[in-house]
Amino acid sequence: MSVGTMSPAGIKPPNEYIQDVMTQVKAKNPAEPEFHQAVQEVLDSLRLVLERHPEYISAKILERIVEPERVLMFRVPWFDDQGNVRVNRGFRIEMNSAIGPYKGGLRFHPSVNLGILKFLAFEQVFKNSLTTLPMGGGKGGSDFDPKGKSDNEVMRFCQSFMTELQRHIGPDTDVPAGDIGVGGREIGFLFGQYKRLRNEFTGVLTGKGLNWGGSLIRPEATGYGSVYFASEMLKTRKESLEGKVCLISGSGNVSQYTVEKLLDLGAKPVTLSDSDGIIYDPEIINREKLAWVMDLKNARRGRIREYVNKFKSAQFMPTDPKSDHNALWAIKADCVFPSATQNEINAKDAANLIKNGVKVVCEGANMPSTLEATKMFLDAKVLYGPAKAANAGGVATSGLEMSQNSMRLSWTREEVDDRLHKIMIAIHKNCFETAQTYGTPGNLVNGANIGGFLKVANAMLDQGLV
Ligand code: NAP
Repeated sequence: MSVGTMSPAGIKPPNEYIQDVMTQVKAKNPAEPEFHQAVQEVLDSLRLVLERHPEYISAKILERIVEPERVLMFRVPWFDDQGNVRVNRGFRIEMNSAIGPYKGGLRFHPSVNLGILKFLAFEQVFKNSLTTLPMGGGKGGSDFDPKGKSDNEVMRFCQSFMTELQRHIGPDTDVPAGDIGVGGREIGFLFGQYKRLRNEFTGVLTGKGLNWGGSLIRPEATGYGSVYFASEMLKTRKESLEGKVCLISGSGNVSQYTVEKLLDLGAKPVTLSDSDGIIYDPEIINREKLAWVMDLKNARRGRIREYVNKFKSAQFMPTDPKSDHNALWAIKADCVFPSATQNEINAKDAANLIKNGVKVVCEGANMPSTLEATKMFLDAKVLYGPAKAANAGGVATSGLEMSQNSMRLSWTREEVDDRLHKIMIAIHKNCFETAQTYGTPGNLVNGANIGGFLKVANAMLDQGLV
């Protein structure tokens, strides 16, 4: 590096600094494309901040923020129902604790690997900062697939997983929650084993059952919060969700409660999906149909294709792994709520949605749009709610569960929902105003990345080189 490329104080210009950090991230974390993608998106937004705040460059805040504080990887052996030994890999990424204990979900899915969990943990740092609550960022999970396993197998796996994880977590250290493949059943088994090994009844996990420390509205929170966020975006154009046709992907926790809140607000949800395919019901997924889906997914643990046998107004479109686009995003609609998994909307999908006049894209899932798709939505002036802002309602309500556990009391449903709603309004306002302050009005990607970053970066400066 020649001295000529440095600023007078010996600090590199922001563009060059960002490029250098990105090159290092790719070199030090090879074969982790999702992690590279998540970092790239944030760093692109931070260019605007670094121009005004060279102190972040001299303190090497970016180099520090992309490096997890701690990565745990461990063996999880368990017996299946036939008495065979099975072995999975467990992880916990403790990414950043500048503003509070590590907080973030556990994902059980065969696609889980180190890079995916690092992308999720990185996103979580900024998301948790946006919630206004004191929570650092973390994420964890396993390549264990709960699909097709008996309750006893899931329990034995969870007990083995927690036997190792328990030594690294605690109510003031690291507080995991659910994510894909980890719902109320898994949180129960994990909590039971933690309590047995540590002889402590504490708020070490969130998403707990209501009669043993859980919070009302926690199961609903991510979906409800995403819909509240979409309403706030629409308000900036003097519109509402009433009468809007909505596409929802996935059919798990986030998707189910997205549909419920959309119905409350008079919108028209018409799709759901799982990894096998999509159901499209032009006559609307109403409350009766939603209740049936909840029973199918949460109790009977069936597949979404069964919907069309029950409700004749719907059609099923199987997933085509060879297709260059997802048929779900080719359906004409006003608003879309991707709520399944990462990179489920590519450039072709974004082009289909834009061609069909989509007004709102509100991300319930984490990083469901590729970088190219995100750019297309922003260029087309679609109201685009990026994941780390739009789906922050889940972790925000986990934060409320932690507060209730610390105080050993429970708030009413109305009280938690009201707090959640206010937090989502505050997150939108922060993103909207930050985007404006940094000269990119309407760009909530910049608003969320910068808004989330500033609080964490300033805490890191205050706390010295740790
Ligand atoms: P979930 O209850 O396990 O549901 C996940 C849904 O997505 C299922 O319908 C699943 O279908 C589908 N899906 C998962 N992986 C897929 C893949 N590779 N291809 C196609 N479909 C796939 O999980 P969830 O809690 O709703 O989470 C959904 C998304 O929201 C994730 O991105 C998660 O990180 C994000 N999120 C969740 C929360 C929360 O509070 N739960 C908070 C913030 C963000 P199959 O059953 O066929 O796999």
